Amino acid sequence: MADYDVIVIGAGHNGLVTAAYLAKAGRRVLVLEGRDRVGGAAVTEEVFPGFRFSACADGSGYLCREVQRDLRPAVEILSSDPVVFSPQPDGSSLTIWRDPAKTATEIARFSALDAERYPAFVELLGKIAAVVGGLARVEPPDIPEVGLRDLLGLRPLAGPVRRLGRKHVNDLLRVLPMPVADLLDEWFESDVVKGAIAANGVRDLTWGPKESGTAYALLYNWALSEPGCFRSTGVVKGGIGALSEALADSARSFGAEIRTGSKVLGIATEQGRAIGVRVAEDGTLRAPVIVSNADPRTTFFELLDPYDLSAKVVRHVRNIKYRGSAARVLLALSDLPEFTALAGEDPTGRLRGPIQIAPTLTYLQRAYDHVKYGEYAQHPYLDVLIPTLLDPDLAPEERHVMSITAKYAPYHLRNGDWNAKREEFGDIVVDTLAEYAPKIKEAILHRRVLTPPDLESAYGLPEGNPSHGEMTLDQFFHMRPIPGFAQYRSPVAGLYLCGAGCHPGGGVTGIPGHNAARAILAD
Ligand SMILES: Cc1cc2nc3c(=O)[nH]c(=O)nc-3n(C[C@H](O)[C@H](O)[C@H](O)COP(=O)(O)OP(=O)(O)OC[C@H]3O[C@@H](n4cnc5c(N)ncnc54)[C@H](O)[C@@H]3O)c2cc1C
Repeated sequence: MADYDVIVIGAGHNGLVTAAYLAKAGRRVLVLEGRDRVGGAAVTEEVFPGFRFSACADGSGYLCREVQRDLRPAVEILSSDPVVFSPQPDGSSLTIWRDPAKTATEIARFSALDAERYPAFVELLGKIAAVVGGLARVEPPDIPEVGLRDLLGLRPLAGPVRRLGRKHVNDLLRVLPMPVADLLDEWFESDVVKGAIAANGVRDLTWGPKESGTAYALLYNWALSEPGCFRSTGVVKGGIGALSEALADSARSFGAEIRTGSKVLGIATEQGRAIGVRVAEDGTLRAPVIVSNADPRTTFFELLDPYDLSAKVVRHVRNIKYRGSAARVLLALSDLPEFTALAGEDPTGRLRGPIQIAPTLTYLQRAYDHVKYGEYAQHPYLDVLIPTLLDPDLAPEERHVMSITAKYAPYHLRNGDWNAKREEFGDIVVDTLAEYAPKIKEAILHRRVLTPPDLESAYGLPEGNPSHGEMTLDQFFHMRPIPGFAQYRSPVAGLYLCGAGCHPGGGVTGIPGHNAARAILAD
């Protein structure tokens, strides 16, 4: 006799989304989370007394509209305009606003030609991104065994492709595999303009902007962002963990049970079929459907007995590339940093959104060059947010929190290990920031540096990769997480995957969780 209809391993936001949909459909659902709180990499933590951080993911803007509509997580999203503030070493800056015409005025200071082209770029790439958004919602076909069900599953693509128009289908097919640098070279002449946009093609990848597939990464970010924006700008009031808590509340409201501090030790199988999970406190809990929110390598190699898998599947799983390449630096600040580029103006307007220390495309490429040789960048690309400008309650009065995702910082260092290099890299990050905001060092009250191995050990992200496997073209769509099993189903009957390692990939989107629930209910 089964204890539940469905057991979900992991209460990352995707596990919670799957659990909520299945409970809403009337299934008896249990969620088991190994950490002491829900959310996985989407958590708010009081890292220093009185200072609360979105410890990994910051942005809220990617949560898909289907999840918002169906599960109604009770959160307040605080949106910002600008989309990007990109200070320059010479004291100038470029700001990208939501309004392309307003942005064009900014761009004109760097290139009149680029200013003229920017609105057309946003219009065409926005349409192509909408197709990528449709693709994200599709259940990837089972190539080469494509059947009627696969074709019907492609329906979410129809609208965006129609809107793109026949004339631009060729643009879509051409742009997807391109290096983002080549794409931007075709449109713009200013290295500054190219840098501000290209950063969003490399943020979640190990690659530099001249590598294939980085244009797709830009379009993926674009597809999930607010209309007209190539990256998400909002934060959740209370930090991103408030969203995970709200998703957990939603799942509970439909009847799901959620246990934290309950690590699953293994998936029990009988005759090649998943029949339950092993937990320290209760032995084996039984359910005919097991859903794993853990990444594919953990699911197949740690939770399953490899004898349940064919040699081919084992080889495919072993070949998944993870390759985390960013560190996270969390700063508690006594004052708002003074950026040279904002001297004489109220800084709060431009600092409310993402601040990108990626002044040019050339800078990004040079930062990436280090990774090729197993080193971290000496002048990293920094993706900086000051959430307290939108949500002052995250810190004591008049104090601020600043969170930085710092690239490039490879998981494997050629010389030395991260335990010895952690603070050295933290110094490089702060020194880099100080080139644009010279007094920042005096304002730092506390600092925590999370290297890729720290992200692995603290949040269970193998190699510190934010997406449970890199989002490169060879690990995309029908090949994600592995060829032949991209439809949220696994080689073991009754076992499904629902996390970021599945199509379409990482980010706090809820899409893998949503698509997995759809596949489970269809079965
Ligand atoms: C530094 C960094 C910055 C990021 N910035 C952003 C951003 O700004 N915007 C954005 O949208 N995304 C961002 N991301 C990516 C985003 O956080 C992830 O892609 C997303 O949270 C993955 O969600 P998930 O639910 O699929 O997996 P996870 O969040 O990894 O959840 C998996 C859960 O499963 C649990 N689990 C695993 N094994 C077991 C077990 N055996 N038993 C019980 N529980 C188990 C884990 O503890 C975890 O809670 C960032 C990530 C990082 C690391």
